[in-house]
Amino acid sequence: MLQDPTVEAAELERTFIAIKPDGVQRGLISEIIGRFERKGYKLVAIKLIVPTKEFAAQHYDDLSSRPFFNGLCDFLSSGPVVAMVWEGQGVIKYGRKLIGATSPQASEPGTIRGDLCVQVSRNIIHGSDGPETAVNEIGLWFKPEELVSYTKNDEKWLYE
Ligand code: UDP
Ligand code: MG
Repeated sequence: MLQDPTVEAAELERTFIAIKPDGVQRGLISEIIGRFERKGYKLVAIKLIVPTKEFAAQHYDDLSSRPFFNGLCDFLSSGPVVAMVWEGQGVIKYGRKLIGATSPQASEPGTIRGDLCVQVSRNIIHGSDGPETAVNEIGLWFKPEELVSYTKNDEKWLYE
């Protein structure tokens, strides 16, 4: 067992990740899930839903004054979204690294947005940008009972 309680707490970190309608329509679900899975993160919740525009506006609440807000909410509610919660040590911050920069043009090759999309308004994936956002977004998209706690076989090989 880990002795350092701060490390133990970090391992339970969870983030909200969503594959947006463009990622779903472009057949990138398995590619995106695979990157989180191969890294060693644990999937603890997943569902396919078409959000209403009102729900999209709630999700992007902090961007309501931005000129692209209306188009963004129309877009997020335009088709199925894969909503997920991933768990692992440092998953919030490193999940954002796997995703890349907001604009695919500024995203490094090797990142999800760098490798798989072109335009900022069609950037295929969402990821929580910090611990507080993660808690809020997980709470918005999932009921507590939709989060599954389980032991994964490879945990003893991922964490000492
Ligand atoms: N977005 C956009 N135009 C912009 C900036 C952002 O369409 O100039 C969209 C883009 O889809 C982005 C989302 O708004 O993913 C949320 O913006 P944020 O700054 O939170 O970027 P993210 O956290 O997704 O990297
Ligand atoms: Mg954001």
